[in-house]
Amino acid sequence: MLRSTVLTAALFATTFFSAQAAEQPRAVLIIHGGAGVIKRTMSAQDEAEIRTAMKKALKDGYQQIKQGKPAVDAVTAAITVLEDSPHFNAGKGAVFTHDGKNELDSSIMEGKTRRAGAVAGVHHIRNPILASRAVMEKSSHVMLVGDGAEAFAKEQGLTLVDPIYFKTEKRWKQLQRVLEQEKRKTAVTDVEVVKHFGTVGAVALDASGGLAAGTSTGGMMNKRWGRVGDSPIIGAGTWADTRCGVSGTGWGEYFIRSHAASAVCERMKYLNETPAQAGQAIINKDIVEMGGDGGAIVLANSGEFAFPFNTDGMFRGWIGADGVPHVAIFADEAFAGDTRPAKP
Ligand code: ASP
Repeated sequence: MLRSTVLTAALFATTFFSAQAAEQPRAVLIIHGGAGVIKRTMSAQDEAEIRTAMKKALKDGYQQIKQGKPAVDAVTAAITVLEDSPHFNAGKGAVFTHDGKNELDSSIMEGKTRRAGAVAGVHHIRNPILASRAVMEKSSHVMLVGDGAEAFAKEQGLTLVDPIYFKTEKRWKQLQRVLEQEKRKTAVTDVEVVKHFGTVGAVALDASGGLAAGTSTGGMMNKRWGRVGDSPIIGAGTWADTRCGVSGTGWGEYFIRSHAASAVCERMKYLNETPAQAGQAIINKDIVEMGGDGGAIVLANSGEFAFPFNTDGMFRGWIGADGVPHVAIFADEAFAGDTRPAKP
């Protein structure tokens, strides 16, 4: 009798613990606000506002997961906050094209369904990430560009704005400096201008183990001829499958040529690498060897993540079950997230 009670108790305990382990919320949201930060050019006020915006993006995004919503909702919520902040090169505050326009690109992907949506070269959609999401969910296409993308966004009831909404003095002055240097036929040496990317992205793992990733950008300063970078290209700037999600930031041409986002996930799948190892191989080796630069955020379905980058810094952050947002900017900043193991 005693024996059977002990046995039953032991069985119950085992079941209880394994059920608890299975239900353990491993949900995580990781974000970036661009790679390439130059320390000396950032004012204390800008830095404080950037950190505040990133913490809000993390909290708003994680709130979705806490409410039992899918990863794609967390990604959308986080990126919307960053697009609305003038401090990032996405939505309001985007960089200018050579012709003085803000031309926006974005994409989103859901891991378990491999559904994806993207828009490129848009000038009026207040939140391009919402348009990408609408393309994914409400159309039979993956990518819409220019006027067609805007007509679709209008049909979907998304907010369209006068292009002046996106303009900030800081970005306008940066463009003027580059144009001036071009006119004088001097090399563009302004490090702040050429090395500050500022694209935003998010990758989330929801409570049911689903992954999603998204990216939004104004592209590269002084771009011409309808140039489109990696951010709206599935596999280059954004990728999510059942094991892994990635959002990139950096010199888009190199991210396209190395299909950086999917390459990181393929290494994790086929070589069994960790997010840090796969990120290191693509971001800090492949892309650097090709002559490019930038960074990425990488999240595995185990909850393990990494923030590889090869620039002076990268706006980056994460939030987990305790709901405390962690944010870092500079490479030398102590940041628990940079090497966080799967199970602390
Ligand atoms: N990757 C973006 C592009 O090439 C730029 C950035 O990350 O800021 O369009």
